[in-house]
Amino acid sequence: MAFLVVLGGGESGVGTAILGLKKGYEVFVSDKGKIKKKYKDVLEHFGIDWEESNHSEEKILKADVVMKSPGIPDSVPLVKQLVANGVPVISEIEFASKYTDAKIIGITGSNGKTTTTMLTYHILKSAGLNVGMAGNIGDSYARMVADEEYDYYVLEISSFQLDGIRDFKPHIAIVTNITPDHLDRYDYKFENYIASKFLIAKNQTPEDYFIYDADDEVLVDWLKKHPIKSKLLPFSLNKNLGEGAFIENKEINIRIQEDIMKMTTDTLALEGQHNLKNTMASATVAKLVSIRKQTIRECISNFQGAPHRLEKVLKIHHVQYINDSKATNVNATYYALDSVKTPVVWIVGGVDKGNEYKELMPLVREKVKAIICLGTNNEKIKETFGNVVDLLVETYAMEEAVKVSYKVAERGDTVLLSPACASFDLFENYEDRGNQFKNYVKNL
Ligand code: ADP
Repeated sequence: MAFLVVLGGGESGVGTAILGLKKGYEVFVSDKGKIKKKYKDVLEHFGIDWEESNHSEEKILKADVVMKSPGIPDSVPLVKQLVANGVPVISEIEFASKYTDAKIIGITGSNGKTTTTMLTYHILKSAGLNVGMAGNIGDSYARMVADEEYDYYVLEISSFQLDGIRDFKPHIAIVTNITPDHLDRYDYKFENYIASKFLIAKNQTPEDYFIYDADDEVLVDWLKKHPIKSKLLPFSLNKNLGEGAFIENKEINIRIQEDIMKMTTDTLALEGQHNLKNTMASATVAKLVSIRKQTIRECISNFQGAPHRLEKVLKIHHVQYINDSKATNVNATYYALDSVKTPVVWIVGGVDKGNEYKELMPLVREKVKAIICLGTNNEKIKETFGNVVDLLVETYAMEEAVKVSYKVAERGDTVLLSPACASFDLFENYEDRGNQFKNYVKNL
């Protein structure tokens, strides 16, 4: 019996363990930290051997294959030892994909993954396809492969998942954009991170498709220097590149071979230029799997969007409150500020991953009337924008930030929480930050 070791007892680890068991492996789950009760209960239920707060090295080194959860870096000594011994160390998407014949739509990028994944799923599901959605989003992909028989999977895929692939091949890949992120896991080299994102195309053939943002110079340059085998379907806000998607006269045009589909952008549910890009990417997928124009048009108009991403909370005294707590880097905040058409009271700050705030300067000059810092260390924000806006206030709790924003904002303004930073200094995670914002706004 082959021996599968799963490192990390979270969503993807437990899902992989169950799939491994079903496929006849002897399975052992090992987590250096604590495993959540809900996952322990599942492991117990299936009679899967597990440990926590420890890695039993001797046992783990006997593995035939190891599934490493995305949170565990390659630099961990045990992982290095396994690799040196020639044991395959793979990710969940690699392991699970071996056990399904479903067509895979794989979505990666620095920003926009979740939105594009949800929108793509929404269209495919509404069209009646037998489709599952997994990856970084919601339930474990491996668990779904164990339990369901889908014809299509829409997968949100992080670079960490891609680092652990060998044969994984999506039939349709989307790369939404590439901006510096997670560089701590890539030796602080942007090229390593880009290369990791492009692993999504590594096993693709000329029968497969690669959808990407042709306005993103990083992507375009890389493709020029490192050609891939799959069929390229670019999307662009301003140029017609033949096949792919572009905007002209306020219409989305999607062309695949000689077939052209046009749809108005007037009725789109999601606002902002970035969401126009996400919508073009999703609609291109829909077209590739032959979904009717009517269905696509309805779906891109009635899509609810994902919470914490430019989520409209409430309008109070003609002031619009928007929760964009998921904006944990400058690029995401750039699009948020870009999408707002009114003067902005901007709540920003948290744990900065090496931000270059200067990129935001033109937008801040144009739209931001007040900055409300919300973080334990706001020095960089103060230094960059202190002289640019009329008012800059430091706050250290969401309740305070919301109250101050309420005082400062005037009729016709927008209060935008778009922190450009991670949330771990004052909050559990970005959801906690966004939920607190919404609650305090609702209590105003
Ligand atoms: P991800 O899953 O890649 O983190 P999300 O869809 O959760 O992406 O969006 C994360 C943040 O980035 C949100 O603040 C959102 O408004 C913004 N965003 C969404 N799509 C894009 C895009 N195509 N380009 C830049 N920013 C985006």
